[in-house]
Amino acid sequence: MQPFSYYRAETANDVVSALSGGARILAGGTTLYDLMKLDVEHPERVVDISALDLTEIRMEGETLVLGALARMSDAVEHEILRTEFPALRESLWRAASQQLRNMATLGGNLLQRTRCSYFRHGAPYACNKRQPGSGCAAVEGLNRAHALFGGSDACIAIYPGDFATALMAFDAEIDLLGPSGTRRIPLASLHREPEDNPERETNLEPDEFITAIRVPRSNAARASTYHKIRDRESYAFALVSSAVGLDLDGDIVRDARIALGGVATRPWRAGDAERLLVGRPLTEATAREAGVAAFAGASTTQHNAFKTELGARAVADALMIAKTRI
Ligand SMILES: Cc1cc2nc3c(=O)[nH]c(=O)nc-3n(C[C@H](O)[C@H](O)[C@H](O)COP(=O)(O)OP(=O)(O)OC[C@H]3O[C@@H](n4cnc5c(N)ncnc54)[C@H](O)[C@@H]3O)c2cc1C
Ligand code: SF4
Repeated sequence: MQPFSYYRAETANDVVSALSGGARILAGGTTLYDLMKLDVEHPERVVDISALDLTEIRMEGETLVLGALARMSDAVEHEILRTEFPALRESLWRAASQQLRNMATLGGNLLQRTRCSYFRHGAPYACNKRQPGSGCAAVEGLNRAHALFGGSDACIAIYPGDFATALMAFDAEIDLLGPSGTRRIPLASLHREPEDNPERETNLEPDEFITAIRVPRSNAARASTYHKIRDRESYAFALVSSAVGLDLDGDIVRDARIALGGVATRPWRAGDAERLLVGRPLTEATAREAGVAAFAGASTTQHNAFKTELGARAVADALMIAKTRI
């Protein structure tokens, strides 16, 4: 690990000044230090934001507001998530391990980086994300865990986070603070697809940071689930996952939310599959149709074609679980 200077910010303005001076944010450190030890990240300065008062989880009218420094484990235990946003809660407790969840923050979780092993483990493998212009070893290599949606010739790495996938289904927004004050963006605009510049992963300005996450209360968020399929039942990233929420009028679907994880270069919303359900009864047959529709247009590689059927089943199963929560 290369030497770096450490600064503990006391106020939000301290953070913005440090970022303007080229520092990197340190929150829980479970991703940043990991990547520094692997020699993937080499910040010369880090600004520790953990002293800031951004840990509160509360309702503001009809909107859930989660402070960027709330720990994953605190959100999992929170009553509002348990009763009103079960998919968000499940996405958090099905992620990482209890020790990691005790340390990791929600803001840091959103900005975790891909687990593509060529990216993390470096030479002698080419990786455009780690070293722009060097190529992509995954395209012809071991790409079982790679993306079906949103990839480019330059990069097919998935975005690995569970929480952002769940937020995607429920129209979450993100509060950002920078030198010109606060701005609010849809979570859907936070992460970028790789296109020709896979090293640019978000639409954050270099001197901005996340202060809060906002999620509107809805019937679909209340009758929701996060269904995660992985190689082993705990402490593993998603092979495929689906965040689903439902609102029914009798038997008929009034509102359906479907987002996909483990299969795309950014959190992915399956809008066509949602629209296919609205106005129809939710049955095993229509849930299956929606699952298949969610994976229409998937672009497979040599080793990951199995994810289309696995994903279709995950969506269908998630819909049937959500139906039991109405
Ligand atoms: C072994 C292991 C298994 C894991 N398994 C899973 C899993 O199954 N599912 C899953 O979703 N995640 C998983 N994770 C990822 C884990 O959830 C993240 O490492 C964690 O949430 C990051 O939060 P942090 O506070 O530690 O972030 P940090 O490491 O402090 O920061 C991460 C990144 O975000 C930036 N950052 C942090 N906070 C902010 C902010 N407020 N504004 C702007 N930038 C910020 C940092 O500069 C850094 O680039 C796993 C991690 C490990 C190590
Ligand atoms: S898929 Fe992306 S992260 Fe993985 S090797 Fe290719 S460029 Fe690097």
